[in-house]
Amino acid sequence: MASLRLSSLLSGSFSASLFSLGRNSKFGRGISRFNTAASLEVPVTPSVQINHTQLLINGQFVDAASGKTFPTLDPRTGDVIAHVAEGDKEDINRAVAAARKAFDEGPWPKMTAYERSCIIYRFADLLEKHNDEIATLETWDNGKPYEQAAKIEVPMLTRLMRYYAGWADKIHGLTVPADGPYHVQTLHEPIGVAGQIIPWNFPLLMYGWKIGPALACSNTVVMKTAEQTPLSALYVSNLLHEAGLPPGVLNVVSGFGSTAGAALASHMDVDKVAFTGSTATGKVISSLASKSNLKPVTLELGGKSAFIVCEDADIDQAVELAHFALFFNQGQCCCAGSRTFVHERVYDEFVEKAKACAMKRVVGDPFKTGVEQGPQIDSAQFEKILNYIRSGIESGATLETGGERAGTKGFYIQPTVFSNVQDDMKIAKEEIFGPVQSILKFKNLDEVIKRANSSPYGLGAGVFTKNLGIANTLMRALRVGSLWINCFDVFDAAIPFGGYKMSGHGREKGIYGLNNYLQVKAVISPVENAAWL
Ligand code: ADP
Repeated sequence: MASLRLSSLLSGSFSASLFSLGRNSKFGRGISRFNTAASLEVPVTPSVQINHTQLLINGQFVDAASGKTFPTLDPRTGDVIAHVAEGDKEDINRAVAAARKAFDEGPWPKMTAYERSCIIYRFADLLEKHNDEIATLETWDNGKPYEQAAKIEVPMLTRLMRYYAGWADKIHGLTVPADGPYHVQTLHEPIGVAGQIIPWNFPLLMYGWKIGPALACSNTVVMKTAEQTPLSALYVSNLLHEAGLPPGVLNVVSGFGSTAGAALASHMDVDKVAFTGSTATGKVISSLASKSNLKPVTLELGGKSAFIVCEDADIDQAVELAHFALFFNQGQCCCAGSRTFVHERVYDEFVEKAKACAMKRVVGDPFKTGVEQGPQIDSAQFEKILNYIRSGIESGATLETGGERAGTKGFYIQPTVFSNVQDDMKIAKEEIFGPVQSILKFKNLDEVIKRANSSPYGLGAGVFTKNLGIANTLMRALRVGSLWINCFDVFDAAIPFGGYKMSGHGREKGIYGLNNYLQVKAVISPVENAAWL
């Protein structure tokens, strides 16, 4: 891909940045504090039909070989939404066999690139047509505000699929000048069967980040969705088949990590595995892949991103951006700005305003207009977050606001802000994955660079300053895969995403995402008459 020019990387920018929606929408600043009780007690009834709860193997919806199912729960109440087929090793074997056949025998990799591209474009059209049903399903299964699902996540998936549909017929190798009487070229070929394991925090975006480049490069796929959020992937995968995807090209197996996920990562007939999730599980997957057939692995793992507010920053903007960087998606983002470093000269003012901002955050039923924060995904995450809050209090951080569950049902947590957080506290070191902001004080640039880089993670960072020299210094010094300067969480189909250090390896999205799904074959042949070289 070296011949691809930078201009192609920068084209097609996507205007619906997450932050701009967060700031400009009527997300109800000023509605009552934590806005709990009434809005949480009577959940809105979602208006969508659940048509697909079986596994998708070889273009058919089928039961698990064992006949087992598992419940998927509504995070607003803990009630069962649906019982979903529980795939395990036997189902992964069936799905991999279907993907293998579809890859080895076609028609998918043997179609023209243009035909493949058209199918992916048709899929994007169907996503657009069914945007609101898909968003409803996503909110129901995940708990994220419907406005965000409908206006950001599903449209971003649609945009991403169009982006990769555009790539499908533009993937090709190079002619290489080599010493000697040889003609040398490279073929950029698909890897084969890709195993993809995704998490629950952005079920649809993670689905798109994975299948987009895999399909554009004409691979076939077995995807294992997260056990907390199986519904939306099944729904949209049905649309992909309606768009003309041949059977066996994309197989979706719902189920658990230690059974279905592990079987996929260690399968001898899977040629590559891509994973997004926790660093602990990433290590397991890496080891399963290397102990089986040494398949290449792409890992997008945890983070503890620094958000650095310099003394020259516009404090009101910095407060709002830092708030967004942490609280967006209930704080369930791997790149959340979960260490808010603030210069000592503006620290007190920042803390006061950050607290006021969190107190105005609207927590409520995610189907209601104006709600900014829904429930956490499940009881395990809910308990884990409350434990981190207790640990913050016990270790001596100052609880400025929040700190408790919101309401009495489901998995809602009050927006929580800690100040006086020290680097050695658990809340400053570990990934909380919830609505808990930790504010730390710094004195100078060298110090904050060292402290920001002291994390074992290196996924993202934010910098807030008007000083170009400082921005440029931090740009070079911070060891992270994404650096947002005076913005945060701006995503785009074309912008690569991935981590340094224990946040993983490989980059998803953009031109870089294609590299994970291509092999390079060097083809060398002699030129008979060197005079014609
Ligand atoms: P979380 O703890 O937030 O659920 P995980 O990293 O454990 O995050 O989960 C992300 C994805 O990884 C899910 O689809 C999950 O089922 C899967 N997973 C969990 N454990 C394993 C495992 N041992 N092998 C393969 N996949 C796994």
